[in-house]
Amino acid sequence: MPTRTSRGILDRLKGGVVLGAEGYVFELERRGYIKAGPYVPEVVLDSPDALRELHREFLRAGADVMVALTYYAHRGKLKDVGRENDLEAMNRQAVRIANEVAREGDALVAGDICNTWAYDPKNKDASSKVVRAMYEEQLSWAVDEGIDFVIAETNDYLGEALIALQVIKELKFPAMVTLATTRPHQTWDGYDYVDACKILADHGADIVGLNCDRGPVTMMPIIEQVRSRVSGYVAMQPVPYKTEPAMPTFESLKTADGTNVFPIALEPFLCTRFEMADYARRAQALGVNYIGICCGGSPHYVRAMAEALGRTVPASKYSPAIELHPVIGTRVEEKEKEFLVDWKG
Ligand SMILES: [Zn+2]
Repeated sequence: MPTRTSRGILDRLKGGVVLGAEGYVFELERRGYIKAGPYVPEVVLDSPDALRELHREFLRAGADVMVALTYYAHRGKLKDVGRENDLEAMNRQAVRIANEVAREGDALVAGDICNTWAYDPKNKDASSKVVRAMYEEQLSWAVDEGIDFVIAETNDYLGEALIALQVIKELKFPAMVTLATTRPHQTWDGYDYVDACKILADHGADIVGLNCDRGPVTMMPIIEQVRSRVSGYVAMQPVPYKTEPAMPTFESLKTADGTNVFPIALEPFLCTRFEMADYARRAQALGVNYIGICCGGSPHYVRAMAEALGRTVPASKYSPAIELHPVIGTRVEEKEKEFLVDWKG
């Protein structure tokens, strides 16, 4: 196992906010390296340079954590695309690449596991064994390649999240466990989201919270309650989409004519970088410890969030200087701006 040189996740959280960055699968799909639908991270083996580049862009934008792209790199999903034989190679390579890029800065490497689609509360004992074996398998490779902590994410079931937590704790790694919030108030096995976070924390999860599905506006109210119920570290990684009470998740977003836009026509609902910066500030004020972004995330959001948290990051070198813009910049005579107003009017 490679030696870990940087400060661990718990040390960093003690010192202040840790900035996360995810959304690898969605972004690499947009860039043409992952197929929408199955969303299996085939890019890890087929185009490792594309993955390396995205890690690097997140690192330059200020991400403190390189999350290994092992999301959906599990036995069930690889079978769907006929690549079950690539399972180990894909998992190992993803962690290796995350490590390579993390070393270019001072980032941590997170092993990543997620909902398996194999957990069945009606057949809890048997399905738990299958899920546990999948997590053990993925994490044994991750640990072998070198990780600092583990993120278990987009958990629809508390029961499945608890299995992930147990496996992570047996391996003696810090555990960040976050829930998906596709339903109004409860996990798919019927636990209120806030209660479920409390239960995870009580079972030893070092960081608990929510990721994916909801944009900042509809995730924040639940996170506020989690923050008030849980004494440990809290994580929030929303999707950068304008969800609202009537359409609280990105899966529920519809255009005015009623067309569903999830998952590949979501662009009209994207947040601006300013909205994501504002979210980061509000999360920090609320006492959220791990502030990140999920599906739809891209480097310009992460840089805006980092700067909102008061940081100057490598990509800040090219942060906007709109005052220098030839038409809308402040150095331009009012008269010259008139054509813009006319055109808009
Ligand atoms: Zn997501």
